[in-house]
Amino acid sequence: MVKIAVDLLKEGMIDEKTVLKRMEPEKLDELLHPVFDKSAIKNAKVMAKGLPASPGAASGQIVFFADDAEEWADRKKKVILVRIETSPEDLRGMVVAQGILTARGGMTSHAAVVARGIGKCCVSGAGTIKVDYKAKTVEMNGKLYKEGDWISINGSTGDIYDGAVATVDADLSGDYEAVMKLADKYTKMQVYTNADSPRDAKQARRFGATGIGLCRTEHMFFEGDRIKAMREMIIAPDEESRRVALAKLLPVQRGDFEGIFEAMDGYDVTIRLLDPPLHEFVPHQLATMKELGEETGLTLEQVKSICDSLEECNPMLGHRGCRLGNTYPEITEMQARAIIEAALNMKAKGVDVHPKIMVPLVGTIKEIEMQADIINRTAQAVFQERGETVAYKVGTMIEIPRAALTADEIAQVADFFSFGTNDLTQMTYGYSRDDAPKFLGKYKELGILKVDPFAVLDQTGVGQLVEMGTKKGRQTKPELNVGICGEHGGEPSSVKFCARLGMNYVSCSPFRVPIARLAAAQAAVEA
Ligand code: PEP
Ligand code: MG
Repeated sequence: MVKIAVDLLKEGMIDEKTVLKRMEPEKLDELLHPVFDKSAIKNAKVMAKGLPASPGAASGQIVFFADDAEEWADRKKKVILVRIETSPEDLRGMVVAQGILTARGGMTSHAAVVARGIGKCCVSGAGTIKVDYKAKTVEMNGKLYKEGDWISINGSTGDIYDGAVATVDADLSGDYEAVMKLADKYTKMQVYTNADSPRDAKQARRFGATGIGLCRTEHMFFEGDRIKAMREMIIAPDEESRRVALAKLLPVQRGDFEGIFEAMDGYDVTIRLLDPPLHEFVPHQLATMKELGEETGLTLEQVKSICDSLEECNPMLGHRGCRLGNTYPEITEMQARAIIEAALNMKAKGVDVHPKIMVPLVGTIKEIEMQADIINRTAQAVFQERGETVAYKVGTMIEIPRAALTADEIAQVADFFSFGTNDLTQMTYGYSRDDAPKFLGKYKELGILKVDPFAVLDQTGVGQLVEMGTKKGRQTKPELNVGICGEHGGEPSSVKFCARLGMNYVSCSPFRVPIARLAAAQAAVEA
């Protein structure tokens, strides 16, 4: 597709705009990720099917735990991490695996979001496979696979194959560069990236991202030993002990942010304050609970009881987002301090920093006012201590229907809006992000839904809220910077919708940046 269009352009048969119009942005995936060798895949047997959660092809030996994935990878083995579902604890295993396969979870599940972020092939929500962690087996279509057995997965189609299938590496040609140059020439919208580490930020920059639209700070808490301090913070019985634990997290966060600012020199870096429900971080294994008790001077029973008390019936609608930062303001204080100090440190080193602090899950003006107040007070305190300042912005995610409905009020406080269409889709449809895959397939079969609304933005329903939020926000503040950072930010039809609304940017995972750049350019030439 790319080569033919560029050849025709060179021969004067078509013009530049026609080159762009002829592209199918999704097809770029085949250039950016490994694919199966065409002759090898012909004879491969499909054993089961899941969701095409993160594109590419992968072949490897089955492992069930992140620790095993790391150990096998150290021994130069190629592994596929097979889980019922993944949690942030699995990140290390995901990074070293060739691919990830989960039995549960949709297109915005942890496995899917993280895999897309790190450019790993992933098939999620393969509901017919039966994973047994104890026996270290997985059953697919009547065949029992043990740890070490080979399987292959296609994250672009959701197919799971028996045995090893040869793959061919990604290959970017000069023609690809030529098309992307044309995209940049005609586009009217920026493409930012969702990145949580300097590594992802650098990767996205290589793919042409011109900023970070979403840095999920919670993803940073699972590397190395930092989870210990995070857990101490969570189980702290009072503010004083919470502050002690937060003081341990401060330098760690500051260091991460410094790396990200450096990688994004000259560009916006949007850092979102802590978002997920706290119980996601509590230990589930007895040994870890014991260790945590020893570190904090609590008995095992006390640790267990605190962990139990953090469980919620509907965590997605529970104590998360800015509800955490407003009920525990010291968390926002620490994160704001880490961001501002990191920005000052990097500015002193000559890096051109543009920090944007983003408040998640806002539904009322009061929520953002209180968070902005803490952020501004903290920034002023740091400026006083350092005798130096740095420009920063405070904005919000628009991901609760009420925020879109009252966007005119919220814009009085927010410098920018970023539509969190994962949560906005969840709350507009009333479909749980975690549970919807169980019935979405059937819903598509029945014709109730044409596509998965967590993958393709529902322009008819959810889109109305996005349009209303954008208009209402700009009524209050005409210069309001507006973008989107839900998974839809890398899906072509959704990107075009955002471009038509006049958004300033879309933000998507690094490997979707070229796709979004192309879709944004198409919106401009099709207008
Ligand atoms: C969203 O809700 O769209 C979003 C980007 O945030 P998260 O997926 O982390 O909830
Ligand atoms: Mg969200």
